[in-house]
Amino acid sequence: MRMIILSRDSNLYSTRRLKEAGEAQGHEVRVIDPMRCYMDITSHNPKVLYQGIPIVDADAIIPRIGAANTFYGTAVVRQFEIMGVFTPNSSQAITRSRDKLSSLQLLARRGIGLPVTGFAHATQDIDGLIELVGGAPLVIKLLEGTQGIGVVLAETYQAAKSVIEAFRGLDANILVQEYIKEAKGSDIRCFVVGDKVIASMKRQGADGEFRSNLHRGGSATKAKLTPEERSTAVRAAKAMGLRVAGVDLLRSHHGPVVMEVNSSPGLEGIEKYTDTDVATKIITYIERSLTGRESSADH
Ligand code: ADP
Ligand code: MG
Repeated sequence: MRMIILSRDSNLYSTRRLKEAGEAQGHEVRVIDPMRCYMDITSHNPKVLYQGIPIVDADAIIPRIGAANTFYGTAVVRQFEIMGVFTPNSSQAITRSRDKLSSLQLLARRGIGLPVTGFAHATQDIDGLIELVGGAPLVIKLLEGTQGIGVVLAETYQAAKSVIEAFRGLDANILVQEYIKEAKGSDIRCFVVGDKVIASMKRQGADGEFRSNLHRGGSATKAKLTPEERSTAVRAAKAMGLRVAGVDLLRSHHGPVVMEVNSSPGLEGIEKYTDTDVATKIITYIERSLTGRESSADH
């Protein structure tokens, strides 16, 4: 098969591993920078061009679109979809996953457990918002944040009120969330491929840090999931329409709650801490999907 990894940097761990794994399975794998793809969107013969040359004969793409490039990156993915090229994560699902607010709304609608979460526009409604999530301590999140930046724990009502006012004063959109104290600074990253959790790890924030992000100095160990956690992760990925996803859960007194669903989950931490060949599992999933697609087209 001919596979294309859409990634800005072929030296990134995840990109390298996917290329290696694809080649080891006998595929032709190219890494292409989505920001350097341009396209003919009008023709009845839609094209993506890279360095002046149309990309023809690709069977599958593996999008690894960074949060900063969602708009252009998903346009490139969409163009490949129009050309009939297989992608595990559709442009629509990637776009959806990048909006924390609409993602949570979508998950809630599917009955998936979430921390109690509120959203408001006007500063006059801050008191109501704080009350809605059960008062302080509570967590405040910038809608645009990633890697733990823009996530604040407000320990008291006064702190919560000032931080919310400050963010709203800057016109930043924020979510206010119940603080899941019993998670004790840890969360569970479930790596979903197709309809299975293929690896999971428990991440623990550095001492005195409530955020478990590895980018914030956290560490991780392999996690053993309960059946409920496993099914929550799979249902969350499915609700988002993602077939490769990193679903982050918190272990709360009221069962697993989903914090976010990532459409380009990193491979480095999960492979290292769980000793799983995640890259090969993704490649195998793509192979199976394509074989299924060909045989159903025959009928
Ligand atoms: P980001 O997209 O920046 O990673 P997250 O929503 O995943 O933002 O939050 C970052 C980290 O903060 C999480 O991994 C988790 O450890 C912690 N955290 C976030 N929300 C809560 C919450 N409601 N209760 C307890 N801890 C939380
Ligand atoms: Mg996170």
